[in-house]
Amino acid sequence: MRKGSFPTERFAPLRTPFYYYDMDLLRSTLDTINHEAGKHEGFCVHYAVKANANPKVLRAIRQAGLGADCVSGGEIEASLRAGFPAQKIVYAGVGKSDWEINLGLDSDIFCFNVESIAELEVINSLASQKGKVARVAFRLNPNVGAHTHANITTGLAENKFGIAMRDMESVIEEAALMKNVKFVGLHFHIGSQILDMGDFQALCNRINDLQNQLERHHIKVEHINVGGGLGVDYQHPNRVNMADFKSYFDTYAQRLKLRPGQTLHFELGRAVVAQMGSLITRTLYIKQGATKKFCIVDAGFTDLIRPALYQAYHKIENISSDDPLEAYDVVGPICESTDVFGKQIDLNQAHRGDLIAIRSAGAYGEIMASCYNCRPLPTGYTSDELL
Ligand SMILES: *Cc1c(COP(=O)(O)O)cnc(C)c1O
Repeated sequence: MRKGSFPTERFAPLRTPFYYYDMDLLRSTLDTINHEAGKHEGFCVHYAVKANANPKVLRAIRQAGLGADCVSGGEIEASLRAGFPAQKIVYAGVGKSDWEINLGLDSDIFCFNVESIAELEVINSLASQKGKVARVAFRLNPNVGAHTHANITTGLAENKFGIAMRDMESVIEEAALMKNVKFVGLHFHIGSQILDMGDFQALCNRINDLQNQLERHHIKVEHINVGGGLGVDYQHPNRVNMADFKSYFDTYAQRLKLRPGQTLHFELGRAVVAQMGSLITRTLYIKQGATKKFCIVDAGFTDLIRPALYQAYHKIENISSDDPLEAYDVVGPICESTDVFGKQIDLNQAHRGDLIAIRSAGAYGEIMASCYNCRPLPTGYTSDELL
């Protein structure tokens, strides 16, 4: 069984659990993104900050030249602090509060992705108080299903996100009557952890139809934003440590009919950061239960909630032992039955003190950590600082 390579001797003095970020893998992922997106005219890639907002990670992503996709005022602040230029920040979310909109206006961000008429009216009125004109894109709900977990599809008519397609023209016309907003684009996001390029093709077909419809009404759109959602291989992080960026960008280049001068924006989160991160935890006890063995570790769902929240799979490796394999349920210390990282997982025989790596945890890991049970938040270490 192939395992990841980790500087385990550097880990020895660190308090567990902690996140470990492989910055070489992050940088080569960013290089691949720039290379594959750069082949196509007008493609602009933003990083979805909600996947991982560790300042060291954000800085590396900004240095690679990506923009930032934010879903809260806090993320706008984190992005500005990490040095993202305001002209590369987009701000989405169904429930933007006034202070968050004001922060976006004061910082002159590139665009607000607007999800309702009610929100458009508030942005218009707050912008007018400042004598500004806010650039807005409308997030449309394309009613395109994604073949992914039900909790992470966002583009179906039943989901809370976006404006219904049938309201598209009336919303654009309404915006044209408002003095302090300028309609500049259309925004979509159909879900997350999508591996079937057919789902992105379906989105392209939908956007082509909508663009034809707008053209008949002589409505001009400066940019199209197709959101994120590209998935990664959680089963084989060692063999396949990078998302299929080539197929992803090529799909859009081939299927989406951009109009002259239009730019195409992407908001990738998971695919940028998932594989470079691991949660490193220490084995506390091996417990023989009535029917199986438990490997009890010092990380819990407070540190990585994806398995408890969406039954997500993460590959788990014992990075301190090369002993023969044994099956364990790998569980945390939290007082909830859902605090399980994996059931009947083959690990090299585990002993008290062994370090366990929970792989592909760079996205929606550290950022979703909580202090439940008064547990301290895990630290994020980069490979750069442990060298
Ligand atoms: C979450 C989100 C993203 C990023 O999704 P990933 O699956 O992590 O790529 C992009 N855009 C919007 C609007 C989002 O809500």
